[in-house]
Amino acid sequence: MSSLSLSSLPHALHPLTSYGWDTGWAAAFAPYAERGLLPGRVVRVDRGQCDVATAAGVVRADTEFVTPHDPLRVICTGDWAVVDPDGDPRFVRAYLPRRTAFVRSTSSKRSEGQILAANVDHAVIAVSMAVELDLGRIERFLALGWESGALPVIVLTKSDLVDIPAVRAHLVEDVQNAAPGVQVLAVSAAAGDGVDVLSAVLSGGTSVLLGASGAGKSTLANALLGRAEMEVQATRDVDGKGRHTTTTRNLLVLPGGGVLIDTPGLRGVGLWDAGTGVGQVFSEIEELAEACRFQDCAHTAEPGCAVLAAVEDGALSERRLASYRKLLRENQYIVAKTDARLRGEIRREWKRKGAEGRAAMEAKRGGRPR
Ligand code: ZN
Repeated sequence: MSSLSLSSLPHALHPLTSYGWDTGWAAAFAPYAERGLLPGRVVRVDRGQCDVATAAGVVRADTEFVTPHDPLRVICTGDWAVVDPDGDPRFVRAYLPRRTAFVRSTSSKRSEGQILAANVDHAVIAVSMAVELDLGRIERFLALGWESGALPVIVLTKSDLVDIPAVRAHLVEDVQNAAPGVQVLAVSAAAGDGVDVLSAVLSGGTSVLLGASGAGKSTLANALLGRAEMEVQATRDVDGKGRHTTTTRNLLVLPGGGVLIDTPGLRGVGLWDAGTGVGQVFSEIEELAEACRFQDCAHTAEPGCAVLAAVEDGALSERRLASYRKLLRENQYIVAKTDARLRGEIRREWKRKGAEGRAAMEAKRGGRPR
């Protein structure tokens, strides 16, 4: 390998292809390659350090140069890092501009953005079928999923715990109604049902696995990775302070193709500047609103309101309208509180990409331009 430059290898032979490396990343990395720096995908971030998968294996590197004050510019799992191969410790010098990023607000009081995963193609939202469905929470996850620039996929886990097929179908339909344009899959990791379909969906890129604790995320991840739960348990140990430390990576290559980024069980996911995402979750309401008599209609009591008319004749559920209002309010509150300087630059880029994606989708559907 030493006599052969990595950049001259055909794309399919590049050792990082299984991690998602493609010609676009190679082009973005070219100026760094000239300086003898190495590309690698961040598989885990700790305080001040990260693990990076490179062509030479996983290396530990210092993140001092990529830890700015802006929490959204801090290096995170899924980033493509520029690693200085020399020196002890090694340093991450930069990371390539992100294609997408999944961001939530850490708490609705402080309204600070936290980036959970970078360069994600699919936002997989795991929801347990074994407990009562919380459609509002699903809509909240969806808004964040759309906003990230990734394509959301809803996975209803533990489908084997719903015995009656008609009930199962009804639950899937309820979720589908709350998620227009989103693929909804019922999966049972225990019975092996639907895992192959999900594997195929995720094989084409990077996926982030999201969900509240108890949603069956780790069981689902294990099923996708083709390994037993015991192995995960075995990699946990207790350090000197009696604290549990997980030594597993957050970013894993799937045997069926694609890459999976696991996240901790999220107790709460606050919206963070997710106005576009909210609009996409409730696309049917936004479409109805175009027929309202007043352009600034708030859909509360205005005459000629097409949204209220749809609720009246049963085409739109009151629950859905209430959820839409709630998420819009929450988002406006966060946006008003967040420092514009923190948001502007990076968000503009993502929004442009999102708009391009939507325009392409509209064109594909033969939809009329607005
Ligand atoms: Zn209206």
